[in-house]
Amino acid sequence: MGSQGIGTLFRIIGADEAVAEADLKASIARLSPPHGKVHRLVEGELPRIAGGQRAPGGLPRIHVRRHVRDDDQPQRDQNTETQHRNSRLSCGHRRWGHDMIALTGDHGLSHSDAHLPASLAPWLDRPDEGCSCGRIHQVPITRLGVGPGLIDAVPDYLPRPAAGGDLLLLADPDTWQAAGEKVARTLRAAGHRLFEQVLPAAPHADDVTLADLLRTLPCTPGWIIAVGSGTIGDLGKLLADRTGAQLCTVATAASMNGYASSIAAFTRRGLKIPLPMAPPRVIVVDTQVLAAAPSRLGAAGFGDLLSKPLSGADWKLSHLLLGEAICPTALQVADDAVRRARRDAAGIASGEPAAYGTLIEALLLSGISMSIAGASSPASGGEHLLSHYLDISAEGWARPPRLHGEQVAVGTLVCARLYAFLRAAGPPAGPPPSEEDDDALRILHAHLPAEALEALLTEARAARQQQPDRMARLTRLREGWERIWHTVDEQLGDAAGLERDLATAGCPTRFSQIDVDPSLAGQLLRRARHMRRRYTVLDLAADLGRLDAFIAERAWDADV
Ligand SMILES: [Zn+2]
Ligand SMILES: [Zn+2]
Repeated sequence: MGSQGIGTLFRIIGADEAVAEADLKASIARLSPPHGKVHRLVEGELPRIAGGQRAPGGLPRIHVRRHVRDDDQPQRDQNTETQHRNSRLSCGHRRWGHDMIALTGDHGLSHSDAHLPASLAPWLDRPDEGCSCGRIHQVPITRLGVGPGLIDAVPDYLPRPAAGGDLLLLADPDTWQAAGEKVARTLRAAGHRLFEQVLPAAPHADDVTLADLLRTLPCTPGWIIAVGSGTIGDLGKLLADRTGAQLCTVATAASMNGYASSIAAFTRRGLKIPLPMAPPRVIVVDTQVLAAAPSRLGAAGFGDLLSKPLSGADWKLSHLLLGEAICPTALQVADDAVRRARRDAAGIASGEPAAYGTLIEALLLSGISMSIAGASSPASGGEHLLSHYLDISAEGWARPPRLHGEQVAVGTLVCARLYAFLRAAGPPAGPPPSEEDDDALRILHAHLPAEALEALLTEARAARQQQPDRMARLTRLREGWERIWHTVDEQLGDAAGLERDLATAGCPTRFSQIDVDPSLAGQLLRRARHMRRRYTVLDLAADLGRLDAFIAERAWDADV
């Protein structure tokens, strides 16, 4: 093979559990060779991989070792997931990787692609092996439709009544009225046996609600039909995961980017955490339903989406400082999403269905970028921490949360100002500021519910254990100052005009517009970074000893 240059060879090394021959063959067939590459599959016995687990809500996975052959580079043989991760931190020329590919099946679904937006088509249910991060990306969404009037077509997106088992429709009173009732009627008329769970108003995707849902299941569902947006969509993912059912999400608002993501925002013991979850098998979006929802919801979706330049900068920062794995494909897809949506900010404020079509396509792409990365990193950084911290402080600070995307929009502009502030202040001088220990954190976060406080301390401890200490981070910052800012600036180039676009779409842009007064803003900025181990611009400011100055000077309210 030496004369053939770069090539790709897959060796199947095992499976999560026994897999049917037909499923295996179908999956292998999907690993079609990319143009110009040598591609072989070596079949052998399929030993069960220790620690392997069935993909959430999906089929068992086969494990492959992927060998990219490049005659110019030395070859390495790295077998385990851990080594795979480490290798990406330490060397740029990893040759062997260990990937997992979900076995594909037809799930009883037809493969009609009418109403499938062209920008999303390349990602559906097809392993993509060309990414330079070395991983095989696969987004296990099988069918997706976006268009006016699709609410009447939901049965076309599901298996035939006898094949799919019982359906369990999940909604809240608002989403039931907006779409759920109609979807239920249409599905019953098509011959499905359907049960309904309409939750009380303003439900939460938390441990209590999930336990209630599981305890009161009216059937053993073959499919969950989640009719709603953020909370109902996340509960649908969790319920599908716990019951082994497939998930179909029917979107009711263009209010956030989580529909197609492999993450569920879940509140466990009072602390909101991103849980890895399979995205829905099927997503149906009726753009007329989206445009009929209050325009504030669309503006919030736009706000959630536009966090990308900042979350991307945080991800790259974490990559450079801590060696966090980064995926260029996920970044690219997320960039595309933002570019699309920014074309028609005014149409969102005026409720034009076409603008909502563009917006939801971008939100779905943004979700897919998270599914590609296998993490929320492409679309969630410091600005999201600010929003999440406001949510968990709702009781303690007696401030009802605003919409996620509204809080994120303000957080995005604050983080952009923080980056500008830190860049202007120059490289660190003097000894590093001391880091807060558990006692200091207990005092800082005393207003949180007891369980949330304990969960936060666990996260903060994990961050201390997993990350190089502050001294090491500062050394890297000093040594790589120019290079780091070059990378960050490149990413933040997209931030120009963010405030204008957000305001045009009807999004709040200042703390004062989301009931956060200057004193609360200071408390928020000082505390939010402790709730997750993710490294963001908030940590950078603390490492540099400049977070307090940013707060004292109220630089968070300056014009960018
Ligand atoms: Zn978000
Ligand atoms: Zn990648």
